Amino acid sequence: MTGHDDGKDSGEGDAIKVFVRIRPPDSYDTDIGQVLALKVLDETSLVMNSKPESRVFTFDKVADVTSTQESLFNVIGKPIIECCVSGYNGTIFAYGQTGSGKTHTMLGPCEDADNFQHELRGIIPRSFENLFNNVANEQEMNKGKEFLLKCSFLEIYREDVFDLLEPSNRGLHLRENMKKGVFVEGLVENAVTSAVEAYQVLNSGWINRRVASTSMNRESSRSHAVFTITIESKEKKDGVQSLRVSQLNLVDLAGSERQKDSNAVGKRLKEAGSINKSLSVLGNVINSLVHISHGKTRHIPYRDSKLTFLLRDSLGGNAKTHIIACVHPSSKCFGESLSTLQFAGRAKMIKNKIFEEKLIKLRDQCNKKDACLQSTKMIVKF
Ligand code: ADP
Ligand code: MG
Repeated sequence: MTGHDDGKDSGEGDAIKVFVRIRPPDSYDTDIGQVLALKVLDETSLVMNSKPESRVFTFDKVADVTSTQESLFNVIGKPIIECCVSGYNGTIFAYGQTGSGKTHTMLGPCEDADNFQHELRGIIPRSFENLFNNVANEQEMNKGKEFLLKCSFLEIYREDVFDLLEPSNRGLHLRENMKKGVFVEGLVENAVTSAVEAYQVLNSGWINRRVASTSMNRESSRSHAVFTITIESKEKKDGVQSLRVSQLNLVDLAGSERQKDSNAVGKRLKEAGSINKSLSVLGNVINSLVHISHGKTRHIPYRDSKLTFLLRDSLGGNAKTHIIACVHPSSKCFGESLSTLQFAGRAKMIKNKIFEEKLIKLRDQCNKKDACLQSTKMIVKF
């Protein structure tokens, strides 16, 4: 979503918040007494045990191996969701090498709807519960306010956009306009009226992702998965109906590891190349934004990859953004963990420019087909 003049500015820009989560070592590592590459110093810092000298990193929070899914959600998820319900855009994304705990953190082990209440459920299912609770509270305080929540779920694989809610929908294009900002043309959006329904949408998309990874040879560790909830709220003030639209993006990124297999040929090489491209453009975007934060003007290469174009408003734009950098503590992962922490350290220096999404006065918009559509059915059941 793009910002607009009549959106309320929340202040002098908001730094992207960066959290680090260290997953538990593999039992194999502990059995053979594998040395750990990093050590938590306190709630916000950790040290990488490198030679000749150790390196200390500081973040908004460092979650050690004992951190629970619930405590992590309270720190990382809750504040963003509250903002989204009040009309701001929000994005949470997990970055790190394959096996570092991104999917565990975002989704958890509950890959089927019956496991919705699993205590290890991750940030995405917890977001649904919190979001609907927040919406209910908001409606309690403001009786005339109505909400419509819609979910979409896509995968970016080798710079191709696939709709996980409608597998025949592939090769989708990113577009941009004044009203919607950057959006995916033709992407299915399912209206949801409860956390359980949202969970069912997530679950069906996740199953499609797994099916594609086996039947179509699409390796999920090499793709980016983006779950988006669009929140529309309608209220009447001083006799004028208005509509506000905000978005929450929940992103499980592809593994950030460098391609080591120098024998990779053909499709595998192309695959590795494009994954590297997407994540390396993400790195370039972050670097450029850091330069801008330091007062230097620079072109930001958002359009160089699908991922960065889609996340444009979350990176330096109009969104509250939390990044979870996931790391494996084993010394055999030292190089990848160091590069994840360096990426995270740079991202921490970016300030987003945040304002509430514009209120669309429905009376002014009633000849616009979709604004009218949005205004006609907007009931959320609890
Ligand atoms: P990624 O998505 O980064 O490739 P996963 O989330 O699939 O990594 O994690 C790899 C394995 O480690 C999974 O079996 C997962 O259950 C386990 N794991 C990751 N993080 C944690 C954690 N914080 N606590 C317990 N197990 C974890
Ligand atoms: Mg994963």
